[in-house]
Amino acid sequence: MTFHAAVLTLYPEMFPGPLGVSLAGRARDEGTWDLEAIQIRDFAADKHRTVDDTPAGGGAGMVLRADVLARAIDHARGRMGEKILPGTGRGTSEAGGGALGVLPGLAGERGEEPRAPLHHPADGPPPRSGEDVPVIAMTPRGKPLTQDRVRELAAGPGVIVLCGRFEGFDERIFEARGVEEVSVGDIVLSGGEPAALMLLDACIRLLPGVMGAASSGTEESFENGLLEYPHYTRPAEWEGRTIPEVLRSGDHAKIAAWRKAQSEVDTRLRRPDLWERHIGARVQSASGAQRETKD
Ligand code: SAH
Repeated sequence: MTFHAAVLTLYPEMFPGPLGVSLAGRARDEGTWDLEAIQIRDFAADKHRTVDDTPAGGGAGMVLRADVLARAIDHARGRMGEKILPGTGRGTSEAGGGALGVLPGLAGERGEEPRAPLHHPADGPPPRSGEDVPVIAMTPRGKPLTQDRVRELAAGPGVIVLCGRFEGFDERIFEARGVEEVSVGDIVLSGGEPAALMLLDACIRLLPGVMGAASSGTEESFENGLLEYPHYTRPAEWEGRTIPEVLRSGDHAKIAAWRKAQSEVDTRLRRPDLWERHIGARVQSASGAQRETKD
């Protein structure tokens, strides 16, 4: 099953960028995922191809217009619909090898047998149209991106990512088109493109076959609400620094216990927010009590 990504941006030349090399690049060549970078400017209505205007109420900068964004999103959803509907390419690898922005037509046009989509019943009902593909706007005002959300996205048919520039988006677009606002951290970037690359990278590495065994492990940071334990490799001694003895003991039970303890200590010290949540979840599951959420 191919994971379809569409990115709406004023700088399509930034894609696939880093996602064209290494594991992600190989996975794209193999058809595990594909990417279409869509120029928002193509959906402007005037001859100057205007996509922005001054902020209502005054102030610095420019704001991306809702009407232009809406046309771009509607277009992207239509393209997604073509790709994920049964018999139009979903479940095949034909989309993967193509050049960026060149997407497969209907299977029927190519004289191929329509193929049933590869859909596992455990994934829930199969997506019916591009409407079922989440549209995510990158914005520092959004909900912080989490590994849980990334995992959900990676299990779905794909994602449409909206990259802001200037002061960001006209607020009305979010409700009008059911757009989810997501932030990649409490920082301000000059544009949504690096944030979109982060989001897609995190999804792609979880797609089946991309990382092999490495990503399927449950020990990775955040997989159990904790940071991962620290790693070491040869040489055993370097600049007078050694590797914790337990890791060289060959005692797997002891190693596992050490790693668990390190993971807990590091999370408590470095990320008290994660630790609080972890403890809360543990207390809740132990007592079976309904905890009142304060936030
Ligand atoms: N005026 C806005 C910032 C605009 S930055 C504000 O103060 O909230 C320009 C664009 O960069 C944004 O529209 C968004 O797409 C992107 N961007 C900046 N910081 C980001 C972050 N932390 N997460 C996701 N996208 C971000």
